Amino acid sequence: MSTVQALEPGSRHDLRVGLSPDAPDEDKVKDEAGAFGYCHSYETSSRYDGPGLRVVLFVSGCLLRCTYCHNPDTWHLKDGTYVSVDQVLRRLGDFAPSLQALGGGLTISGGEAMVQLAFTRRIFAGAKKMGLHTAVQTSGFLGDRADTAYLAEIDLVLLDIKSSDPDTYKRVTERDIAPTLRFAERLASLGKPVWVRFTLVPGETDDPANVEGIAKFVAPMKNVEWVEVQPFHQMGSFKWKTMGLEYKLENTQPPSRDLVNRVIGQFRAAGCNAR
Ligand code: SF4
Repeated sequence: MSTVQALEPGSRHDLRVGLSPDAPDEDKVKDEAGAFGYCHSYETSSRYDGPGLRVVLFVSGCLLRCTYCHNPDTWHLKDGTYVSVDQVLRRLGDFAPSLQALGGGLTISGGEAMVQLAFTRRIFAGAKKMGLHTAVQTSGFLGDRADTAYLAEIDLVLLDIKSSDPDTYKRVTERDIAPTLRFAERLASLGKPVWVRFTLVPGETDDPANVEGIAKFVAPMKNVEWVEVQPFHQMGSFKWKTMGLEYKLENTQPPSRDLVNRVIGQFRAAGCNAR
């Protein structure tokens, strides 16, 4: 049985491993009550993960294995800190007045929030009670789990669409693309605000046809407020090495400004608000 601990503030770039060695595997977790869960860290002043100033909570557990993942230390619940919802909300409450004043709120990222559905639902519900804007960053792979009650607690979905081509998606994430596209279509039918995020990795996701496929899929969706092109970087590479994982992108450079502009241009040409 994991022991409840204090969750330290920090950065998504801090390496944290082995904090809850007896935690269940992320694909077997039974998160029915959701009063406790596993978290990596939290940041208190992000301006990149939703509107305004955000507290970003990074939860542990993810079922994808993206080749370019910056945070492989969020894949396993056992690497996270075991905390209670009450602890999380008490800490969030300290920041709530500032977040409200600066038009921000809470974003839950990861890892994948929907691995611990009941836990993250309680946190979102608590944040809403404080009057905060709420956002989830997700791959959408577990989108079928997000029932109406879950989505009702979320104001904005930051949806990672990593590829439009099923083979590329499988190669890059080790999972199928269909659940993500299904979730995107459901969010569109509900009119739920979405920012699509696309990680631009030279040699992995930059093929013009791949970008074109996402752009054409997203452009008709009136609920998609932004498409954000996120350039690959190497800030997470030390984690792969320290954790003894095979890192295939060791020699991959961040995309050039020209490549970023080409991709943004492709999204704009299709009719998306892209940046
Ligand atoms: S979905 Fe996110 S956390 Fe999970 S492996 Fe991919 S980049 Fe990493």
